[in-house]
Amino acid sequence: MPTWLVTGGAGFIGGNFVLDAVRRGVKVVNLDLLTYAGNRDTLAPLDGADGHVFVHGDIGDAALVKRLLAEHRPDAIVNFAAESHVDRSIDGPSAFVQTNVVGTLSLLEQARDYWKSLDPAGRDGFRFLHVSTDEVYGSLGENGKFSETTPYAPNSPYSASKAASDHLVRAFHHTYGLPTLTTNCSNNYGPFQFPEKLIPLVIAKALAGESLPVYGDGMNVRDWLYVGDHCAAIARVLEAGRVGETYNVGGDAERPNLTVVKTICALLDARRPLADGRARESLIAFVADRPGHDRRYAIDASKLKNELGWAPTLTFEQGIERTVEWYLQNQAWVQRVLDGSYRLERIGQA
Ligand code: NAD
Repeated sequence: MPTWLVTGGAGFIGGNFVLDAVRRGVKVVNLDLLTYAGNRDTLAPLDGADGHVFVHGDIGDAALVKRLLAEHRPDAIVNFAAESHVDRSIDGPSAFVQTNVVGTLSLLEQARDYWKSLDPAGRDGFRFLHVSTDEVYGSLGENGKFSETTPYAPNSPYSASKAASDHLVRAFHHTYGLPTLTTNCSNNYGPFQFPEKLIPLVIAKALAGESLPVYGDGMNVRDWLYVGDHCAAIARVLEAGRVGETYNVGGDAERPNLTVVKTICALLDARRPLADGRARESLIAFVADRPGHDRRYAIDASKLKNELGWAPTLTFEQGIERTVEWYLQNQAWVQRVLDGSYRLERIGQA
C-alpha cells in the first residue's frame, strides 16, 4: 500500500480524508500545525493505528519537511494545510499569506527536491496534489458555472492567497516538471467541521435556541458538497488524474444560504423541538453583509466526471440530514470545540 504525506490532516476535510485513507490501508504521515482549526479529537479513532503517524509542525518548516520526506519516502503529498476561513482573512490577512502562499511554496520546494532524488520509477509514480477552492474564480452572476478555464478573480484575502498557491503549484509543474494535480472544490459540509463555518455554526446555535445570523439578504448562493464526496474526488484524482491538470469538484447543489439555514431549522425542529415550542426559523437574524461577499458560486465538474468517472453520491438533502444527525450524535466533539478543551491537550498529544 502507498504512503502519503498529508498536510492539514487534523482539520475538517483533511481529517475526513485521513480517517478514510488509513481505513483503506494507506500509510499516512499527517503533518499539521494544530492551529485553532486543527483538532486531534477528530483523529482519535486512529490512536494506536500502525498506518497513521501524526507530526505536529508547519508546512513552512523546510528542515522538518525534508526530514519527513527522507524518512517516510511517500508516494504522494496531499496538501490540505491552509488558513481557510474568509472572515478571519478579512480581519488578518497575513497568516493567510504566510501559510497558504509562503508555506505552500516551501512545501513545493521540498517536494521538488525529494522528487528529483527518486529513481525513474519513483519519479513517474510520485504526485503532489494541492487541494484548493472554487473561490479563486471570484463571483458569478445569475447564470453560468466555473470551469477549469474560468479566469482567476479572487475577491477575499483568503481566495487571493489560495489563488497564489494554485499558481505556484502550476509553475512548479511547468518549470521543474513536478507531477502536480490541483482540485478546486465548492463549499464542503459534513462531520468534524469547525463551528465557525455556516452549517455547523447554525446547527450549534439552533440547538441552543440562539439567534441565527445570516449575512445580507441570505441570497448568496453556494454549491454545497458533502465532505465524503470531496474526499472521494481527491482520492480519484490522485489515482488517475492527468499530471499538471486541475479538476473542479462540485455537488450540483446550488442553494442560497437562507435555504440552507431554513433546512437545518426544519431538521432540528423535527428531532429536538425547542422547549418553548417556537419554530427555529424565528431565530433567523439578518446581519450586515460580509465585505466583498461573493454572490454566487457554481461548479461545472464535468471534466472530473467524464475523465475520471467521479460523481457525488449524496444529494444536498441527504447530506445535510446526515450532517445534522452527526452533530446530534457527536455533541461531545462539538462541546470540546466550543469550550476550548480540544486545544488544551493538543501539544501533549502531538
Ligand atoms: P480547516 O481550517 O478545517 O483545516 C486546516 C488545517 O490545516 C488545520 O488542521 C490546521 O491546523 C492546519 N494548518 C494550518 N496552517 C498550517 C501550517 N502552516 N502547517 C501545517 N498545518 C497547518 O480547513 P478545511 O476546511 O479542512 O480545508 C482544507 C483545505 O481545503 C484548505 O486548503 C481549503 O482551502 C480547501 N477547501 C476547503 C473548502 C471548504 O468548504 N472547507 C472547500 C474547498 C477547498
